[in-house]
Amino acid sequence: MPSFDMVVVGSGGGPYETNLSSYLIKPCDTSWKDGIIALEAGSGIGTLHQLLDRDATLLDKLTAHQVYSFIRCFIISHAHLDHVNGLVLSAGSLLGPRKRVCAPLPTLKSLETIFADRIWPNLASWDADDAAYKLLYDPLKFDEGYRSIFPDVSVKAMPVLHGKNDTLGDYESSAFFIRHDPSCQEFLFFGDVSPDSLTSNPQTIAVWRAAAPKIPSTLSTIFIECSWPSGRPDEQLYGHLSPEHLVDELAALAAEVAAVRSCSAKSSSRAEEALPKRKRRRRNKSADVETTPSEPLAGLRIYIMHCKDDLERKYSRPIYHVIRDQVAALVQAKGLGAEVLSAEQGMTIAI
Ligand SMILES: [Zn+2]
Ligand SMILES: [Zn+2]
Repeated sequence: MPSFDMVVVGSGGGPYETNLSSYLIKPCDTSWKDGIIALEAGSGIGTLHQLLDRDATLLDKLTAHQVYSFIRCFIISHAHLDHVNGLVLSAGSLLGPRKRVCAPLPTLKSLETIFADRIWPNLASWDADDAAYKLLYDPLKFDEGYRSIFPDVSVKAMPVLHGKNDTLGDYESSAFFIRHDPSCQEFLFFGDVSPDSLTSNPQTIAVWRAAAPKIPSTLSTIFIECSWPSGRPDEQLYGHLSPEHLVDELAALAAEVAAVRSCSAKSSSRAEEALPKRKRRRRNKSADVETTPSEPLAGLRIYIMHCKDDLERKYSRPIYHVIRDQVAALVQAKGLGAEVLSAEQGMTIAI
């Protein structure tokens, strides 16, 4: 049984402003009118309006303006324009209750420089009693574990690196574990992320360690970027992943999953040895296969997103299909067992 419904408003990595990271989610057992979580807000109400013009049934025949009025909170991974553009542009015309902007503190501080009456009017505040401001900054702490942000939904945020720049040095983005509390089912959603292998300060490995014990029983879907196609030189990644680096990351996850399973297999066989001989279960080959599968990521769906638009039209097919197929081939060659899909604009995804 799925736990969440998702509508992909935008899933590209730019520069087309009409298809930037923007996902709407809700628990499966509620309606869109009951409240919506906006996960990233790159493309906004204009793009949603165009999508609904093409398919009015996408969000129960609601208009784009109505959909935005039902948003209760925005979850934002980092403050780059392709992830906040829709949030900023819509902020002056939002209807419905105040909307929380849930993001790590540095991201909110960066947003504050936009809502500072120069680039855009100040339409957000830090005070829960400031009803005049339609947006409420709500910092997510990296070390606070799961926090309830919506009825039946909790989020755990973890830091990941998103390249380096001259002003700040390492630039941080985030990954979110988004959990449906009644069913304990969750999915993992990455903001933009650079390869751990290219930094002396790897962060993504901690996300994989947190995810590994849950795969695939309570965590079977991961959304992760792959901005570039295969063959992109490391010095031109600009804080993003290519298929080769993404599959290295997935191999790191697979190693963590295998380590968790061998550890739990050892502890259960130790527990069994402690039993009197006649009570021991007879182990057979198929039981061993179950505890140490050859494809450690079997049962896991990986949705590729944030592919950069193919401006020069180098490929005869959509770039997100090219990259998806490149990732899928590498995942298969490494025997990881995950299913590789692409998150595409206008899709509905049951998670
Ligand atoms: Zn970014
Ligand atoms: Zn981005």
